[in-house]
This record gives sequence, structure tokens and C-alpha cells, in this order.
Amino acid sequence: MSLEASALRALDLLAPRRLVAILHCDDPVFLGSSRGAINLTMQVLSRWCFEHKAEFHVGDNKTVAMVLGGGLHSGSDMAGQVADVLLPCAGGPVTQALTFKVWHRWLGIPFDARLCFRRVLQERLRLASGEFAALPGLLESRVAPLHFALELFEAKVDSVVAFARWLFCMVPDAKDLLDAQYETWAKQLLGVPSWKNGAVARCELGWGLSGYARALLAVAMRRAALWRLPDDDLYKSVFVAGHGVTTSSWAKCSLDSSQAVGIVDWPSCATAQQTKSAYKKCVSDVLQQVCYSEWQGAVARHGALVPYGWEQFAGNHIQAVRRLSLSWSDQLCVWSWCRLRAGWIMLSGVRGLPSRARCQNCLFCDSRVSKPMVHCLSCCSHWCTFRDAFVHATGGLVETAGRLAVAVLATKPRDVSFCVVLRWADAMDRESHRLQRTARD
Ligand SMILES: [Zn+2]
Repeated sequence: MSLEASALRALDLLAPRRLVAILHCDDPVFLGSSRGAINLTMQVLSRWCFEHKAEFHVGDNKTVAMVLGGGLHSGSDMAGQVADVLLPCAGGPVTQALTFKVWHRWLGIPFDARLCFRRVLQERLRLASGEFAALPGLLESRVAPLHFALELFEAKVDSVVAFARWLFCMVPDAKDLLDAQYETWAKQLLGVPSWKNGAVARCELGWGLSGYARALLAVAMRRAALWRLPDDDLYKSVFVAGHGVTTSSWAKCSLDSSQAVGIVDWPSCATAQQTKSAYKKCVSDVLQQVCYSEWQGAVARHGALVPYGWEQFAGNHIQAVRRLSLSWSDQLCVWSWCRLRAGWIMLSGVRGLPSRARCQNCLFCDSRVSKPMVHCLSCCSHWCTFRDAFVHATGGLVETAGRLAVAVLATKPRDVSFCVVLRWADAMDRESHRLQRTARD
């Protein structure tokens, strides 16, 4: 740091009239190697303001001073230790001292003096959670179909995170925070408690990419956009030079986090002459494979009649359902269909309530059951109408009880029996809820 400061000071001495500024509309940033250098800049700025009848709003949330890389000192600590940065008034006697801050909101992003963007990440997740809050209710009350809620999620919730997503590669625990949040949202969308398997929930919603993988995709695309700029572009020059600095930089952090998962950087990509959309597809494929490896370990802890594998992970059945042009009432059943497949509709219990007991009773016919899913789909007297309709639609080829249950759960959107299964799942989900409410009362 002392070498860097010395070099900056040498530049000041070589070019004393140099002003270092980032001008963005009415939010300029002025940089200086020392308090003396920045105070000289303030004097020049003050004269310019007087000549052009411009004025800076000075206050804690307006024009402030920051020491980049200056550690964790609070504004008051800094004020006690260092000389003020002063904005003199060229037209009169009033001189204003800028408040020192450790972070300041610039262009909508809270910039931290240590270039740590954890505060940004936490703020974005908090704002996105606020937007998310209404979505589970829409699904549970059957006001909106699942695919509609997922589109709302992308437009209203994910877009809030996406605003600053390319910066999250600079947050050391970004993977933990983002992956946990997206799995929580997935479980809440499917109406299940937090201790259920988040990997299964993500799969049911067709979210192949984890929360962190979404961030890495944004990072790769931001790097590609910068590489594509002309060589004499200032933004590109700073980006390229950022790889060689000894301190932390976005260029270095983004390259390290991309390479850690095997993403090929834009200039090294074999098909570098291709379009951005082709590169995005290439990066997405790499990330999907990485996520699949992690997902397999997590999903193995979930017991299900129909095993979750690559077909379920990569095949987005929500999109497949959307292309079917189902009636509105059938579209509303898709939510319960996902819950049924994951085994998250309560089918058995003790006296109608959830229980961990080995022997439980079927919620619908009250008979003693050891495998409630197999029982309800293949034997339960309560569901014979739906079962007959399913067997009829499939041509009556299923033989054993276990195979019948698996056949129901493995039904795909393109199968002729799909609508029967949708309505069956919905009826089962609603009846289960009704019986649980009755048992509690
Ligand atoms: Zn039963």
C-alpha cells in the first residue's frame, strides 16, 4: 500500500493540476492520493462551481469523503484522526467540511471503503425477499398457476438481486448466502417448511442454476461485455489493468471465481468470435454441470418413489406444461402435482395429524399404512375414481400396486394421462389440507 501511495504522490508532483474524477450524470467522484491532494481538487472544484453558479449539496447522505482501503474506522474516528476534507466557497467565507464515511450509496449501490460488497448482497436479498413475500400466498390460495408465479419471480424478485449481481464475486461467502436464499425461496414457493430438501424444490421449479451460479453467469457476461469494448476504451483499459494490480480488484476476483468452476473467459473461449448469446449458452452449460454435481449429493438425502436424476434436473417440466395450453383450472393444479411428486402432500398421520410414528393411518380412508404414497395412488378406496381414470387413460397396462404408484408419479406433461394426474394431485392436496384443519379443530 505504501508503494502505491508513493506512486500516486509522485504523479501528483509530476502533474499538480491533474484532477482525477469519475463523472456520472450529477454523481461525480473525485479521487486523490492524499488529503492534501483532494483538498487541492476541492479548491479547483469550488472555483468552477462559483463561475458556473453550481452548488454541491453537502451532508451525510450527499457529498461525503471516504478513505478507500482505510479499514473499519467509523466516520467519527476518522474525523478525530485526520484533517478535514474541505469544500471552500469561492464566492464567500463559508467553507464546508465533508463528513468521513466508511460506506456511501453511489448509483444505487452502497459502496464500502474496503470494496467489500457483502452489504450490497444482504441489502439486495432483503429487498428481493420483500418483493417475494406475496408469491407463496398466490399459489397456496390457487390464485395464480405455478408458471405464472415463476415468471413473476424472475421479473420482480430475481431482477432485484440481478441489479448488482456481477459484484457478488467479491463477497467471500456469497455462495453460502445466495444458494441458501434461493433454496429457501424454492421451498416457500412450494409451500413446504424450511427443513425440507431444497435441492428437490429447486428441481421441481426447473431452477437448474443455483443462486451463486446465477451470479457467476452475470460475472462472466459482464467480463465478456468488457472484453468486447474497443481497445482504446477507458473502461476496458482499467478492466485489463485491474488484473495486474497487487491489491484486490473486481477484474482479479471475477477471473478467480470464474476459473474456480471451469468457466472459460471470453478471450480464451474457442468460439470467441461467436455472439454473446452463444457464449451465454456455453457458460450456462458449464454452470449447469457444476450445479448438477452438487445437486446430486443433496438430492440423494431425499427419499422418493421416482428417483431424481439428470432428466428431472435438466428437463424443465414447468416450461413443458406451459406449452401445453392447459385450461386455467388445470394450470392451477400444477403446484400440487409438484408437491405430490416430491412427496410433500401429507397422506398419512396419527388421528389426522403429522406424526413420526412407524405405523400411521391413511388420512383419507383411515386404514393402517406403511407406504402411504403407494397406498393412496394404488389401493386407497377414497381415490378409486381418479385411479380408474388414470388406468383407463394409460390403457390398463400397469400390474402391481408399486408400479402403478410409480407410473402415476412418473407421468410427463406429454402423456395422455397428464390432466388426470394433475387433477388427482390437486384433489389430494386440498383434501389433505381440509382433513388436517378438521383434525386440529
Ligand atoms: Zn387410504
